[in-house]
Amino acid sequence: MKTARYAIGIDLGGTNFRVALVSRDGVIVRKIKRPSGEQVVGSVLDTIEDLKHSEIAGIGLGVAGLIDRGRGRVFTSPNLRGIEAIDFVGEIKTRFNVPIVIENDANVAALGEKTAGAGQGFENFVLLTLGTGIGGGIIHKGKLLNMPSEIGHMSISADAEKCPCGNNGCLENYASARAMITRTVSMLEKETESLLKECCKGSIYKITPEDIYKAALEGDTLSREILRDAGRYLGVGLANIINIIGPEAIILTGGLIGAWNIYIQEAIKEASRRAFKELFESVKIIPSSLGDDAGIVGAACLVFMEAAGTAA
Ligand SMILES: [Zn+2]
Repeated sequence: MKTARYAIGIDLGGTNFRVALVSRDGVIVRKIKRPSGEQVVGSVLDTIEDLKHSEIAGIGLGVAGLIDRGRGRVFTSPNLRGIEAIDFVGEIKTRFNVPIVIENDANVAALGEKTAGAGQGFENFVLLTLGTGIGGGIIHKGKLLNMPSEIGHMSISADAEKCPCGNNGCLENYASARAMITRTVSMLEKETESLLKECCKGSIYKITPEDIYKAALEGDTLSREILRDAGRYLGVGLANIINIIGPEAIILTGGLIGAWNIYIQEAIKEASRRAFKELFESVKIIPSSLGDDAGIVGAACLVFMEAAGTAA
């Protein structure tokens, strides 16, 4: 049988999902982005139909949450409530009858960066997605580790903030977009002076991380403090990763890397204070090069690897 040239990669997020037709070397031939909405299963199936090709090796699906790749199920997803009840794999299989693989979204993003992005030159690296929550994926000896790698849920405090995952003191409660916004709103409710009071048509409940970064660049004290504090906590997480794994690189992706000059710089500074000097000096902390496309590329690459029996 002829080897199929393409696979379909899907990245399913809470707000939008992306579907792409991807070649064996990780190049996107065509992609579609649509809102997730109420009827997400139907929308995803229809979008696959729009991109279908006669030479498809299979379909790869990246989803935020704890995934059982072997059984093709989502165990739990703190940031995509209700997704556990949906049998995506079954639904896709019934309609298209091709191999399908499901994996954590940050894990497939790491594989995408390894295949066609900023991770190409590294055999051992950790990828972090910095958005509403914080996700992680680990490439070890050139392969994606088939492990949860829930880096955003490492505890960095013994008690404190309750996390949607049920634990207390998780990294993402201090360093994610959700954490920044919660803290900003609470400070503004306490009448803290800030340029942010004037933004978002006067509704402090609509503030985004972009608003906070913009105000910080305009010299707003509260916004700078929010970004620096979140960065400092991210630096605690980075130091833990560096000390435990000692990777060649940490690749950062997600909406928050737009605030690199304050948030990430602060994180790097904090990590340099905490990690073993020798380990810190041998790690490169760099932005992803595929950005939002890493997940769809990686999900498709995982299909090729599963078919060839080379996935970890
Ligand atoms: Zn958690």
